[in-house]
Amino acid sequence: MGFPDSMTESLTELRDSLHGDVLGPSDSEYERARLCFNLLIDRRPAAIARCADAGDVATALAFAQEHDLEIAVRGGGHNPAGHCVVDDGLVIDLSRMRRVEVDPDARLARSEGGATWLDFDAATQARGLVTPGGVVGSTGVAGLALGGGIGHLTAQYGFTCDNLVGAELVTPAGGVIHANDEQTPELLWGLRGGGGNFGVATRLTFRLYPLSTVVGGRFEYAGDGVREALRTFRNIDALADDDLSCQAQLKVDETLSPALTVAPCYTGTEEDPEAYRALRSAPGLVSDGVRRHDFLDQQRVFDPGYGVDRNYWKGHFVRELSDELIDLLIVSMGALGRPPGAVLIESLRGAPKRIDPDGAALGYRAAAFNVSVMASWTNPALDDEHIAWARETAAAIEPWSVSGGYANYMQADEPLERVRAAFGPESFDRLRVLKSRYDPANVLHRNQNIPQL
Ligand SMILES: Cc1cc2nc3c(=O)[nH]c(=O)nc-3n(C[C@H](O)[C@H](O)[C@H](O)COP(=O)(O)OP(=O)(O)OC[C@H]3O[C@@H](n4cnc5c(N)ncnc54)[C@H](O)[C@@H]3O)c2cc1C
Repeated sequence: MGFPDSMTESLTELRDSLHGDVLGPSDSEYERARLCFNLLIDRRPAAIARCADAGDVATALAFAQEHDLEIAVRGGGHNPAGHCVVDDGLVIDLSRMRRVEVDPDARLARSEGGATWLDFDAATQARGLVTPGGVVGSTGVAGLALGGGIGHLTAQYGFTCDNLVGAELVTPAGGVIHANDEQTPELLWGLRGGGGNFGVATRLTFRLYPLSTVVGGRFEYAGDGVREALRTFRNIDALADDDLSCQAQLKVDETLSPALTVAPCYTGTEEDPEAYRALRSAPGLVSDGVRRHDFLDQQRVFDPGYGVDRNYWKGHFVRELSDELIDLLIVSMGALGRPPGAVLIESLRGAPKRIDPDGAALGYRAAAFNVSVMASWTNPALDDEHIAWARETAAAIEPWSVSGGYANYMQADEPLERVRAAFGPESFDRLRVLKSRYDPANVLHRNQNIPQL
């Protein structure tokens, strides 16, 4: 695709004014740089500004507004909705801003806006420290933290955003503002769940905890035992202390026989806690990969390739994982007649329930689990079928829902009501006030958007 001469000249101007670089469609790195985790998204931006610092971000924001280009902000590129890339617009790409500085005495980490969890964990683990983050290394720290953050240490330390103690933001007007508890507590509250709505985060500061090894990995179950194994997962989760986080992933194999992965992460002192004994004796266990290992190994328990398949996700925070819901999920996995993807079940027990709910905008602390239907496939001809499967399965879960779905897993087609429900009406209105203050023209709308008032 070609661009008018005036745009080509303007891009040269942008190139000259950045410390970072600018990719256009004719650059060899453009194809890789526009790629999302989700292959369902195939967009061609006018340009990708790979910013090197906060000044570059301000310049790119000003350039886009001056030239009427829609803006997308790219961290790790993982958002399933593809918010990080926009047709014919400008991508503000933070992938060159990935430095993570650790202050072991203050137990704080300062992460640049484009760092991934791999960058973050490598830096913090070098000091034997950790913050609860995402479970896949290539996910962006900022995107995940600003939308909540559920992972292997949720029960122990809360959501990622609960541990966000400060941020540096460049607003669409070009100002650099600092969010912290002392001067801008309302903004910090909004950043804990409200996503990239208020500015481009060039730096985020997180609280850290000492932790080097965990007892974790994967238990795999297959066949008829899966139903009972999933019940065991639910039962041990209900009784566990805060030193155990647990996730489960339900799938089917090529013959449509159920398969279950349970990925626990225990940080207590025992080598073989009671919960693990129950999981080891559950029916259908075919592989036991749970052992003491480095936290960095735990962060590789799920390691999907980037940009290899098409994804459509939809889910609900649920009040309970009843026997009836478990049965429904297992039956749903066979409904398409071929492996449709997975259902991810993330426990929200533990620290999230004890943390002051008024400290963060996100609003699903009361839920027991986050149940996400994750269709994934490779053949474009199957798009409609897999999307329909995800929608139908998510609709069937709705009777157990306590609020809207998890903003970080939402597709772009979710209605505003679902976004509102994920926060609750009061918090949503507070977020709208913040939006009006920091981005009154809704320049940053490629996200789970909070409309201005
Ligand atoms: C394979 C995979 C694994 C995942 N694992 C987890 C998990 O374990 N736990 C969990 O809670 N979620 C998880 N997620 C969901 C993830 O948290 C969200 O998709 C999140 O938006 C990804 O952030 P990103 O920076 O990688 O994405 P991007 O697509 O680059 O950005 C997503 C959104 O965040 C905004 N954004 C990103 N960086 C900034 C910034 N610096 N300043 C302002 N706005 C910014 C963008 O505007 C965009 O709207 C996972 C997603 C995938 C695909």
